[in-house]
Order: sequence, then structure tokens, then C-alpha cells
Amino acid sequence: MPKKLVIATRNRGKILEFVRIFDELSVGALELVSIDEFAELVDVEETGATFAENALLKARYTAKMTGLPSLSDDSGLCIDALGGAPGIFSARWAGIHGDDRANVDKVLGELRAVPDGKRGAYFVCVCALVMPDGREVITEGRFEGKILHSSIGDQGFGYDPIFSPHGLSISSAQMSVQEKDLHSHRGKALRAIAPHVTEMLGGLG
Ligand code: IMP
Repeated sequence: MPKKLVIATRNRGKILEFVRIFDELSVGALELVSIDEFAELVDVEETGATFAENALLKARYTAKMTGLPSLSDDSGLCIDALGGAPGIFSARWAGIHGDDRANVDKVLGELRAVPDGKRGAYFVCVCALVMPDGREVITEGRFEGKILHSSIGDQGFGYDPIFSPHGLSISSAQMSVQEKDLHSHRGKALRAIAPHVTEMLGGLG
């Protein structure tokens, strides 16, 4: 019987990314289940001051409520010229949670007068694995680049159309999913946590 790991997110895109990366790493003896399968679970308020605190809040709650190993992530965009903002507020930077278009417009407006050499930014993702017995691991991945002057591309989500990865002349909204998984903050954080999943869930496969 495959061992269950609850993915503490309702974001379909993120779940598909978790499935793709775990498949690629042959952590395939796992059954990844979404929190949507547990009607009793409510959305956890992200009251932490850091990505790690927010990721742990979600995974701890899910592990406690389901009695199953739980994996969560928290991510965002940190812009040098804005002192690291929007950071943990990335999803609701323009006021409404998940309004990607408004968030992108707000960042472009705030950076209008910022010259090319000072538009550095990075995406960060922290993954948290929490076991029902209380054991915890967190990993972090970063994706470095800069903020463009306008939106380009229609892949991805969030700030992808205005983020250009270091060393590339395209935006992350112009990358294939495979290419983005390879370089992205979430890809790195997930690949780093995969061996801990294997170890803690014990003898997968
Ligand atoms: P959360 O991790 O669901 O709390 O939200 C992270 C927010 O950061 C998203 O709503 C996006 O605005 C932004 N973000 C995180 N990762 C990415 C990415 O890979 N591309 C574009 N935006 C991202």
C-alpha cells in the first residue's frame, strides 16, 4: 500500500508541481493527497513573520488534524529595491489575495524609476514536512533574477511575467514547466525535502 502524504495546499498548480517533482525523483511509492479530501480542514491563517513560520503553521495543523505526514510550502517574491517586499505578502500585495494582475501592476509602478542595474529580485520557497509524531524538517529554495519593465509571456502564474531569471533573456512566464521546475525556488525546495520524505516515511517502495 502506498504511504499517504497530505499536501497542505488547495492550489491546483502547486499540487501538480509537487506530483511532477516527486515522480521525477521516483518518490513514487507515495500517494499524494490534497487537503480538499478532508472536509473538516479549514484554511490556516498565515500569521507568521517568515516563510518558514507560515509553512510550519500549515503543515503542523494538517498533520494534527489528519494524523498523517503533511507537506506544505510558503513562497513569495523578494525585491531588492523594495527592501525585500512583497515577501510574505506576495499573494496579497495589491490588497486582494491572489489578484495576480493587480500585484504585477503594483510592482511595476513601484519600480518605474528604478534603473536596470538595481532591479534584482528572487523568488523564495520554504517547504515544511511535519510528521504526526512531531518531527519536522524545513528546506528552502531560491530563484534569482530581476524585475522586467513590463509583462512578457503567458505561462506560469503570479509574478512570472515580470520576472527574468538570472542569465536568461526571457521571463519565467516564457519557460516550459520542465525548465521552470529545474531552476525554480519550489523545485529546489522540493528536491531538497524529498530525501527527508523518503527517510521519515520509512522504506518507500
Ligand atoms: P503562497 O505561497 O501560496 O502563500 O503565495 C505565494 C505568492 O507568491 C503567489 O500568490 C505569487 O504571487 C507569488 N509566487 C510564488 N511563487 C511564484 C512563482 O513561481 N511564480 C510567480 N509568482 C510566484
